[in-house]
Amino acid sequence: MTKSASHAWLDGKLVPWSDATIHISTEAVLRGENVFEGIRAYWNPDEGQLYAFRHADHIARLRQGAHIMRMAVPYSDEQIEAASLDLIRACGYRENIHYRPVVYFAEGELTHYLPSEIRTGFFILAFPMPSKPTIETGVKSCVSTWRRNSDMASPSRIKAGSNYHNSRLAYVEARLNGFGPPVMLNAAGKVAEGPGACIMIVRRGKLITPPVTADILESITRETVMELAERELGLTVVERDIDRSELYVCEEAFFCGSGAEVLPIASIDHYDIGGGKPGAITRQLQQIYFDVVRGKVEKYRHWLTPIYGAETARQ
Ligand code: PMP
Repeated sequence: MTKSASHAWLDGKLVPWSDATIHISTEAVLRGENVFEGIRAYWNPDEGQLYAFRHADHIARLRQGAHIMRMAVPYSDEQIEAASLDLIRACGYRENIHYRPVVYFAEGELTHYLPSEIRTGFFILAFPMPSKPTIETGVKSCVSTWRRNSDMASPSRIKAGSNYHNSRLAYVEARLNGFGPPVMLNAAGKVAEGPGACIMIVRRGKLITPPVTADILESITRETVMELAERELGLTVVERDIDRSELYVCEEAFFCGSGAEVLPIASIDHYDIGGGKPGAITRQLQQIYFDVVRGKVEKYRHWLTPIYGAETARQ
């Protein structure tokens, strides 16, 4: 991910990248107090258009997380959409990007503040984000020794910045051990998700994924893939607990998320999955997913928000 852009959007306006700063005394800095979204927009070269994928669903999830955190979101859905589009246009992206609307707690008098006792800020970042090369080859995964955040302590359902300390511990451990993204189990010992993506496996031809009560983020890509698998590939999709040992005997496995896309898993704990190569169902799902997000499938175009107006797009 590129670490800088020409602009960011901070507390009501577009600002040059170097001016996009917040104070070290904010709760966001001190305690990681924020709730955020990660949304992709895909460049369609034939149409000269950049399409945000399921923007409204991401903002609904942002509001759900902020609600649980008792954070007031200081802008309307319309304002957040306008701000996101303004930022992306100001950066002039004509490639695949990822953008991140973030609600954060700013300066407050108390530590255990109510929403009315603290300023809540909002910023948006946008970066180019091409697919990872592993989208073709698949990743070498492992089962983390770290457990996924529990709903009893720090709900994974909330896309809170602080939840990603848990993700980072798991990811760094996996990297040090020579693996890509790990699979995390929940407190009950069942498969939850990856550090930044959900997981699906194929067993006896059925697509299986942990339920939303398994300490996972209620992923929008997970919902998308489940719908496409059922409607477009006629697959049976099952939401149920997955045991660790099932990972070792499944026919196919993949991570899915806005950033991860549909990312094949080639092996887990050195057990090859499907002969160590992306499986046929994973490939088909990748294909349909990439067509849908770029606006190539008419019936799913309601999931897309065009970023550029007709004139700007064709420049
Ligand atoms: N789980 C975690 C922990 C994530 O960070 C993400 C990425 N946002 C996902 C799952 C996938 O969610 P989505 O499909 O909505 O991007």
